[in-house]
Amino acid sequence: MGSYARSVKLFMLNVGMIGLGAMGQGMAKNLANAGFLTTIYNRTTEKSQDLAEKLNVSISFSPEELASKVNVICLCVSSDNDVLEIIQAISKTVLPDTIVIDMSTVSSHAAKQAAAILACKNVDFLDAPVSGGIEGANTGRLAMMVGGDETVLEKVRPVLQAMASRIVYIGETGTGQATKAVNQIMVAGINQAVTEALAFAKSQNLPLERIIDVISNGAAGNWFLQHRGLTMTKSNYQAGFKLALHHKDLAICERMGEKSGVNLPLATQTRLDYEQLMADGFGDCDISALYHLKVK
Ligand code: NAP
Repeated sequence: MGSYARSVKLFMLNVGMIGLGAMGQGMAKNLANAGFLTTIYNRTTEKSQDLAEKLNVSISFSPEELASKVNVICLCVSSDNDVLEIIQAISKTVLPDTIVIDMSTVSSHAAKQAAAILACKNVDFLDAPVSGGIEGANTGRLAMMVGGDETVLEKVRPVLQAMASRIVYIGETGTGQATKAVNQIMVAGINQAVTEALAFAKSQNLPLERIIDVISNGAAGNWFLQHRGLTMTKSNYQAGFKLALHHKDLAICERMGEKSGVNLPLATQTRLDYEQLMADGFGDCDISALYHLKVK
């Protein structure tokens, strides 16, 4: 892109990023590389200090300060309450016509609440949760499912393209998060299948590295097996996707299922397994720590 186009883009889309966790750091890096990012905020300031220097962007010391400086706000924090706390804070100083994009995984209900708070300030909101793990966040190859107004999505599509290689508009506010719930139920099933099968392979004294190689390249091959198979069999559960976060997501899925009269036995079993692992201190580990329960 030429320097003129780059400066026009910077003028039009001036982005601030809130939440520099496992996902947010990679997202911020890609926003900065694309020339969109101007400021970052993280609750624990040390993280923003290191990253701001690396990315050559300014630090904001509160969500309110960040909101007063930009016209696009991206956020990626943990849970419903965290998102709503930040939305309340930014609503105090946010400029009219700003677009807020929430990439956290939260409930559809929280997305609707956030949109309603911001609508009072003439600010648009997109729920845009992602899939693809920290690898996807780092490489800018996330899959993103978007709820909200489609014309708003088109305005910020270039910003989203810096972080995601697949961006799919789903429907009204909250449908992005509902789609992510579908994803999280599948992740639970895949985690159960892969950890159970590899624990079985271990019990048969099979060479696990070769097992993972051949199965990854056949009909049962999948992202989780390819990216987490080998590490889990070496008891390396470095996050990754924190087990406690998936536990939070499955509780959301179950609540949504209850409301619409749908049973989710796989999600429920996985949430209960995670509860056991969290009690044993695995909450901050990758979800592949489920293997630990299967080989016990
Ligand atoms: P993480 O590493 O635990 O980071 C969470 C971030 O949110 C941190 O920057 C944290 O700040 C911030 N935060 C939490 N509560 C906050 C609050 N009340 N106010 C301000 N900041 C707050 O989590 P992550 O893995 O990046 O995940 C972030 C979101 O993306 C979650 O909703 C998760 O479910 C979703 N997600 C994760 C993955 C994955 O593979 N990791 C994949 C897809 C989606 P501090 O640094 O101060 O703690």
